Amino acid sequence: MAECGGDGGPAGKGRSPLKKPAAGGRGAAALETVRVVVRCRPSNSREGDLNCRVVVAMDGARGLCFIQKPGAPAEPPKQFTFDSVYYIESTTEQLYNEIAYPLVEGVTEGYNGTIFAYGQTGSGKSFTMQGISSPASQRGVIPRAFEHIFESIQCTENTKFLVRASYLEIYNEEIRDLLGKDTKQKLELKEHPEKGIYVKDLSMHTVHSVTECEKIMDIGWGNRAVGYTLMNKDSSRSHSIFIIHLEMCSIDDNGKDHIRVGKLNLVDLAGSERQAKTGATGDRLKEATKINLSLSALGNVISSLVDGRSKHIPYRDSKLTRMLQDSLGGNTKTLMVACLSPADNNYDESLSTLRYANRAKNIRNKPRINEDPKDALLREYQEEIKELKALLAGQLDHDYLNIVQMSKSKATDQSPENTEVHSELEIEKENMRQEYEQKLSKIKADYEAEQKSNVKLQEDIEKLRSSFEMKLANIESFDKATDVSPFEVSSRASEVTQTRSAELAHVSEIEQKMDIATLVEPNREITEQNSSSLKNMACNEEQRPLLGPQPSKVEIIPEYSPAGSSPATLDQQEVLARLKMLENEIVGGEQAKNEELKEKQKRRKKYADERKNQLAETLKHADQDDPTILINVYESIQDEVRAKTKNIENLQKKLKVAEIEISDLHSEFEFERIDYLSTIRRQEREHILLQQILEKIQPLIRRECNYSNIDKIKRESVWDEESGCWKLPETVLQKITLPSAGTCVVSNKQGVKVFANEIGDCSMVHGKSSP
Ligand code: ADP
Ligand code: MG
Repeated sequence: MAECGGDGGPAGKGRSPLKKPAAGGRGAAALETVRVVVRCRPSNSREGDLNCRVVVAMDGARGLCFIQKPGAPAEPPKQFTFDSVYYIESTTEQLYNEIAYPLVEGVTEGYNGTIFAYGQTGSGKSFTMQGISSPASQRGVIPRAFEHIFESIQCTENTKFLVRASYLEIYNEEIRDLLGKDTKQKLELKEHPEKGIYVKDLSMHTVHSVTECEKIMDIGWGNRAVGYTLMNKDSSRSHSIFIIHLEMCSIDDNGKDHIRVGKLNLVDLAGSERQAKTGATGDRLKEATKINLSLSALGNVISSLVDGRSKHIPYRDSKLTRMLQDSLGGNTKTLMVACLSPADNNYDESLSTLRYANRAKNIRNKPRINEDPKDALLREYQEEIKELKALLAGQLDHDYLNIVQMSKSKATDQSPENTEVHSELEIEKENMRQEYEQKLSKIKADYEAEQKSNVKLQEDIEKLRSSFEMKLANIESFDKATDVSPFEVSSRASEVTQTRSAELAHVSEIEQKMDIATLVEPNREITEQNSSSLKNMACNEEQRPLLGPQPSKVEIIPEYSPAGSSPATLDQQEVLARLKMLENEIVGGEQAKNEELKEKQKRRKKYADERKNQLAETLKHADQDDPTILINVYESIQDEVRAKTKNIENLQKKLKVAEIEISDLHSEFEFERIDYLSTIRRQEREHILLQQILEKIQPLIRRECNYSNIDKIKRESVWDEESGCWKLPETVLQKITLPSAGTCVVSNKQGVKVFANEIGDCSMVHGKSSP
């Protein structure tokens, strides 16, 4: 393919594909550009039937992609440079190993990572992300990431991991949980001062193996909204995001533990084509408009980030851009896979994809290792494991030791101190309850002051509650173990149960007072799923139902049952079961001694590194090949003339390409303008329709109702950025009766306000909340 240059600057110019060295060790953010690769799929049978010509070509060694304008053979092809290019015969395995591998590896070290597939419908986005199972080399990026993450986890020594997965879809600017109980339910995006943007109530599912991840992916995939367009009848019109949350805890040389958290977003975007081409009508067209809105917002965000002058980055313009905020210009390592069709009838869309991708490669991110987050679930699990182990080993904390001592002395001496120990236990319980209440009200006060988010509060309450209940249960079990004689068992058991119920009721009462119902944490779903019996939770890996019950800090050691084995043994069994279940949730180091696997991992790492270095080298040479910066020494004047004429020819070619590019951009701009204008016209017509309906309806509205004055309502309405809705005034009915002498007494009943009106009569005003 001829050299023609002119892609608006190759990827390597002015930017290094290599990460700059970290500015300050672990956790320090180093600038890193978004990696962009292009993949071109083979022609499909439809394109074959239509005798389409292939207009896309690639130079893999130099990361170049060329596209030839159909019907203009004299024009040199347009050229773009990327971090890597993958042509027709390429495999997802190759793409993953070369470019996705280091990114996913970063996630296992505590970085955030995002891989997203962009391109028109039918260009191979889902093929790349989801993939097919046979041949194995074409398995998708998502299942490969699962495999990679679990392989890394299993090979890592002295580190424990907690892996959780979520899967969501953005369809018509509405977010739905693909793994939730109700996949139709719309979820809200929220912002947390520490966690950043998150989806409220999105379910998270603990996964322990690649198989579990794959099952989850299949379930979610089946729940996607699938539309029907002319281009690809299976294509989805929605954006889907598979999220893997990874928490890891490692022990340093001093025995101190460090928690790190990495999040991997795997994004399969909806088709980027213009709606006119897809033949969409009616509802489908409406969908396309909204999808275009999201993708244009994505395009605008990319442009603003690349254009150094813009101060405002319009992340808030769509759900997609808000969700990907950190992936574009933030704390994330990002890879974009731009997918292309090779056919001439898709030239416009392919060119548009290439331009989009070409802009994205100039975005600079600031990825850093996320260390010691306050809300790591893994830490809670580990603390509980420690507590349970201590309980089993008899190495109890101060509170317990006292009680154990008391209980022991009681066991050897049954008589007079019995009552004393009982009362001490009661005091102990009371103290704990008081401490609990104090802590609770303190946390409440602190967080209310913040008033930013209630998420953390709920978590802390759960933690406090669980530790309170755990201690309470233990005190009781010791109480029982040392105190109860066989014939006392049944009455004592019911007594304990009663006290216990009263205490729990008290706890619930405090929580109710605090209106806990309004405080919903992001992982609510899990907490709810978790409240099943301990027996359920203690089941082993094979038995554990996918998306089923998972452990919860809220779970308590249940009451002992007087029948059967002795209380002490039973409690121990329960503690053991809980311990086993918690330990099952945490993975890591299972294959630490598997040298073969470790070797394989090393090879893959080395391969990715070599590939990166090779590309950096190529780009360096590409810069050196620039004829304008070459200073040559010539043997004769003829040589010099020949070389300089060649240079002039090259530069003239480049000039021509640049001129064509300018005229192309003009026509593309014009095309987009026409697209936007037609959208505006359509919306204008819709607006006129609604206006006309309103005018017809307005005379039918009773004059006593404030909505009879539409202009006033318009003035009083306020746009709410957060919800993307107008806040309308309440509907008010003002009943005006004929004037009469005397004034009216103003009284106020529930839900009904009564006012005296100007003419001295009574008027009833009903308050009703606006929709
Ligand atoms: P998209 O998700 O972008 O709408 P798909 O991934 O569904 O497109 O791909 C459309 C069709 O093209 C599918 O039948 C898929 O199997 C096929 N396809 C896509 N990419 C490739 C590829 N690299 N090699 C072979 N077939 C591909
Ligand atoms: Mg798809």
